[in-house]
Parts: sequence; C-alpha cells; structure tokens
Amino acid sequence: MTTRIAVPNKGRLADPAVALLRQAGLGFEKTDRALTAPVRNVPVELLFVRAEDIPELVADGTAELGVTGVDLVAEAGQPVETLVPLGFGRCRLVAAVPEDLPVDTVEGFRGLRIATSHRRIVESFFGDKGVDVTVVPLRGSVEVAPRLDVADAICDLVSTGSTLMVNGLRPVATLLESEAVLVTADGLSPTAASVATMVRAVVAARRTRYVVMNVPRAALPTVEEIIPGVDAPSVIPLAHDDMVAVHSVVAADEVWQVLPRLKAAGASGILVLPVEQMIP
Ligand code: AMP
Repeated sequence: MTTRIAVPNKGRLADPAVALLRQAGLGFEKTDRALTAPVRNVPVELLFVRAEDIPELVADGTAELGVTGVDLVAEAGQPVETLVPLGFGRCRLVAAVPEDLPVDTVEGFRGLRIATSHRRIVESFFGDKGVDVTVVPLRGSVEVAPRLDVADAICDLVSTGSTLMVNGLRPVATLLESEAVLVTADGLSPTAASVATMVRAVVAARRTRYVVMNVPRAALPTVEEIIPGVDAPSVIPLAHDDMVAVHSVVAADEVWQVLPRLKAAGASGILVLPVEQMIP
C-alpha cells in the first residue's frame, strides 16, 4: 500500500520540507502545479497542500504523515502526534502591544481586543490564566490591526522581531515556541516508520559534522578529550609512525570552538565534512 505524506505547497515551510524529504532519500519530481507527486524508490505519494490544513488531513487519515508547524498543530486542535521536530521554521507566537500602551504583563491584557490568526491558542492561553480578552480573528496582516483600531493588541508569529518593530509594536509575552514537525495520527505502517527513521537521521546529521585530522601520537589523549565522538573517535595509523589520523563526529554548533583547541593540541590537516544521514 502507498503511504501518503502531506507536505506544505507554499509558504515558509514548503522549500525546506521538500529539501528534507529529498535528503532523507525520497526521489521525486515536484512541478509547481501538481497536487501530488509519486516517489520512485519508496511506496510513497506526496500530497502538496496548505500547511494549516495538514493537521486535519493527518488526523482524518487522508495522509499518514505530514510536515507542518507546532503552532498549526496547536491551532487545529486535532489529535496528531509529533514524531520528529525538524529544526527549521523556528518562530514564537508572541503577544505584543503598541509601544505607547503601558502593558507589561499577561494580566495587563485584561479587557483588550487581540487581533490574531491563532484564535484557539490565544483563547486557551489567556483563558488558562483567567484573563478575559476579546479575540479579533484575522487571516493575515495582523500587525496593522492596532493602527486601524480594529484591535488594541496582537498575537502573531515572530522570528527576528523586525516586523513587530517596523509596525511600532512591543512584544510582552511568548505564548508558544514553534518549529516544523513531522506528525502522524496513530499506528505507523512499516513504510511510514522507515520514512520517520530516515527523516530523524537527516535532522540528526544536520546537527553534526565529521571531523578528520592528523595528530601526533603523543597528542592523542588531549585530542580525545576535546572530541569524544559518538562512542570514541576512530584512530587510524599513518605511514609515518609518530602520526595517526583521527576521525570523529562533532556537534555542528560546537565546531567553531573545537577547531582552535584541536589545532593548539597539535592537530593538522583538519577537515570538516557535512554528514548526510546519521543513525546514532
Ligand atoms: P506560511 O504562512 O504558509 O508561510 O506558513 C506559516 C507557517 O510557517 C507558520 O504557521 C509557522 O509554522 C511557520 N513559520 C516559521 N517562521 C515564521 C515566521 N517568522 N512568521 C510566520 N510563520 C512562520
């Protein structure tokens, strides 16, 4: 049986989602207008739809897996389960007010009109805290609502915060941290489980670099302390007795501080290579 995967067809998550599935080993062609694409090497069909429709399509079984945002899952209120956080599409759902409005706490939103395209999350966040607010649902351009006097405040997605600033808004509280996720509803077929494993391998690999270097034998203990590897580094003898080659994986975020220490310890010919997939 063919496993269907729902993938965002446009917007911020679309291109990274396609790149991720390709790196996970799925071979497919994507044309701009096609709604579906067959995968040639795995019994999988991709279904290209709006990111916000994906939680529902996965919950009702139309697709067995889906790529969407944490915020969209929370907003849909559908019973879907996160299988893999994907590490892209990072943003925060933030409550913000015009710069001159003296609101500095969640309590301060009491009685205000809040424009948002995340009605469910906003109602449950303020509801849980016993703060009465009026939600003004908007599909987009939420940031202009206070200027148009459609609302007093907003709740919107923010990554750098520059859109808020340009619109004279000040963030007060974070309702939710979001990123793209691979979701399912219940019980994975063997094919879907394999896809999830491969996706997990890609996400792990992107956080990892493969570091290769030559090390004087005497410096080996110091180098091993700097790069412990997954279990232990590989140490390979070289033609010259006093040198060995050391191969190890290093967290991508740590490479910048590890390299100078390796060099100082005597390593040379250091190469940093990308990892395609990694199953720890
Ligand atoms: P789209 O509106 O189709 O571009 O997709 C919006 C989805 O992309 C959101 O629901 C989030 O899951 C995700 N996203 C990631 N970063 C941002 C951001 N800075 N602003 C809006 N959406 C973002």
